[in-house]
Amino acid sequence: MDLQTLALHAGYEKDSQRTMAVPIYQTTAYEFRDVEHAANLFALKELGNIYTRLNNPTTDVFEKRFTALEGGEAAIATASGMSAIFFALANAAQAGDNIICANQLYGGSLTLSTHTLKRFGIEARFFDVHKPQQIEVLIDEKTKVIFFESLTNPSIDVADIEALTAIANKHNILTIVDNTVATPVLCRPFEFGADITVHSASKYTTGQGLAIGGILVERKGLVDKLKNNPRYSHFNEPDASYHGLVYTDTGLPPYTLRARLSLLRDLGAVVSPFNSWLFIQGIETLSLRMKEHSKNALMLAEFLESHKKVKKVNYPGLKSNANYKNAQKYFQDGLCSGLLSFEVEDFDEATKIVDATKLYSLVVNIGDSKSIITHPASTTHQQLSHEELIACGVPEGLIRISCGLESVKDLIEDLKQALEA
Ligand SMILES: *Cc1c(COP(=O)(O)O)cnc(C)c1O
Repeated sequence: MDLQTLALHAGYEKDSQRTMAVPIYQTTAYEFRDVEHAANLFALKELGNIYTRLNNPTTDVFEKRFTALEGGEAAIATASGMSAIFFALANAAQAGDNIICANQLYGGSLTLSTHTLKRFGIEARFFDVHKPQQIEVLIDEKTKVIFFESLTNPSIDVADIEALTAIANKHNILTIVDNTVATPVLCRPFEFGADITVHSASKYTTGQGLAIGGILVERKGLVDKLKNNPRYSHFNEPDASYHGLVYTDTGLPPYTLRARLSLLRDLGAVVSPFNSWLFIQGIETLSLRMKEHSKNALMLAEFLESHKKVKKVNYPGLKSNANYKNAQKYFQDGLCSGLLSFEVEDFDEATKIVDATKLYSLVVNIGDSKSIITHPASTTHQQLSHEELIACGVPEGLIRISCGLESVKDLIEDLKQALEA
């Protein structure tokens, strides 16, 4: 079935009330029929609801629907994009292990891998997403994950997913792809060899800046890569915390199963049923919105490229952009989502332009239906030195836009008056 059809129907089986809208199951717990039923659920002899920290029928629809869009096997929803990323990494690596990450990562993922995971004994090693060959020298027997973003935030680069997954597969290492900015509508990393995807549902999935949430999706047949793989002995040996369960022997998708039974159980970063319901509403229009975001962003990028005050425009949909070829290969119809950035002369010029816009909101978010403008050097990247800003591709004069769903004519006009104010 086509993605737009799956977005409306996948994962929802109507109960006796036959409600068209997916019901919100606002409950903490579920009654067992009898003691045997309870025991069977705990022993996984029978699958069913126990407690909303582990599963919930509304969240279940969100997970199934998102899995269908991504073309995966199973998913686990979490309280935020960051918790989905933490679960994805911590499910593979433990103290003494290392993970290999792209330099071009979301700020939260960078601090998670360089600082927080370090305190847990996990070392992050970095490569340039445009230089996959750098990965080979970083790999050793303790490497558990190669982690990158399909369309990077905030640097707006497009990963050569096939080149990266080929290196990982040669060494039997898992690849985790953050597909937040592209969404499954524009990019489906599993088709290019990725093993696990993670998303912040807080962005395009909700679409209107309504709720924080995340999701981790596992590809079909991942069990074959984990089974008897010496890198992942914890998937092949009895889990003492779950009465000796061997995840690769259960017949269930092992990555999400372990993330649920072990990480979600013990760390508790669960999404609320109400937020899952909001994400389901968002998914219904995701493909319509992504096309419109992409169309608007391309027109805005073309306008900026033609303006004399603008030194450089970063948008992978522009033929002049270094990521154009990858975008054409990996993104549906070459559509590149709503994120773009452009560079003006310096810090002062950039802040003047940001303050002069009327239609754009000064917000550190992306993926809202309302257009957003940010000046990274004075906000998200404030603590970095001039040299560090240049190294991570965020010069002082850089302005980032998350292009919304307003009329593009109005968006261009407002930016034009701000540039010329
Ligand atoms: C926002 C974002 C995250 C973090 O998601 P939260 O839902 O805010 O925790 C992770 N990755 C990318 C690419 C993001 O844009």
